[in-house]
Amino acid sequence: MILETGRDNARLKERLEKIVSTNRVSHAYLFEGPTGVDKEAFARGFIKGVLCPKGLGENCGECSICNKVDHGNHEDVSWIRRDGLSVKDAVVTSIQEKLNVRPVGGRNVIVISDSDTMTPQAQNRLLKTLEEPPGDALIILLSENMENLAQTIQSRCVKFRIDASSQTAEDESAEMLIRMALAGRRFHELVHEAGDDLRDRIKAGQLLDSMERVYRDMLFEEHQDVQTYKPEEICRYVECIEEARTRLEQKMSAEYAMKELLLEITG
Ligand SMILES: [Zn+2]
Repeated sequence: MILETGRDNARLKERLEKIVSTNRVSHAYLFEGPTGVDKEAFARGFIKGVLCPKGLGENCGECSICNKVDHGNHEDVSWIRRDGLSVKDAVVTSIQEKLNVRPVGGRNVIVISDSDTMTPQAQNRLLKTLEEPPGDALIILLSENMENLAQTIQSRCVKFRIDASSQTAEDESAEMLIRMALAGRRFHELVHEAGDDLRDRIKAGQLLDSMERVYRDMLFEEHQDVQTYKPEEICRYVECIEEARTRLEQKMSAEYAMKELLLEITG
C-alpha cells in the first residue's frame, strides 16, 4: 500500500510517531521523495522514535542514543549509500551479515539511501532479507523514484512519499470539509466553507484531488477518524469524488458538481 502524505510532511511525521507509539513498526519501509528533500533526516527522526528510551514514539533528541543516531555512529544502525552510480550487491551482502548480529539495543536498523539505484543483483539479494527479516530488524529504503525498484521489493515495504512542497490551500480546504462532514455538519455549512472553490473549475479540480487523498489516507492508515467512517463508506466517497471529476470533465458547472458531492458526503 502507498501512503500519500497529503503534501504535508507534518502529517507524515505524525503518522510515523503513531506507528511507533502503537508499537506497530513493520520490518521494512520505503520512503520516496524528490531531490532536495532530506530523506535521511526523515529516516533519522523515525529511527530515533523507535530506539530512543524516552518512550514509544518520542524522541528526545538529547540522549546518547538519539545523539548517536544523529551522528551516524549508533552500533545497531547501518547506513548504506551508493558506490558510484549504484548500490552494489556486495554491500547488500554486508547488510545481511550485520542483521544476523545481535543488536546492542532493541533492534538492528539498516538504511539504504538511493535504494532505487540498487543493481538487479543487489535487489534480488535484498529481497531474500525482506522475505525473512531476522529478529526485529528494521529496514528503511530511501528513494527518489520507487518505480525503479522491483515490484517484489515494493510490495514488502510500507511506502511513504515525502513531499517537497508545503500544504496547499486546497489541501487545507479538503481537510476542513472532511472534518466538518465527520463532525456531522450540514450541507449548507460545507458549501459555505468551500466558498469560491465550488465555482472555480480549476480550484474545484484541485479540491477533488485533495479530498480523494485525505480519504485514501484514511483507508490505508490507522487514521484517527477511521472509527467514525467505515471502509465501505470511504470507498463510496472516493467513488463519488471520481464521479464529480467526470462531471467536471464533461463540462458540467463546477458549482453543481461540487454541491452534489458535498450532499453525498453529508448524507
Ligand atoms: Zn533520545
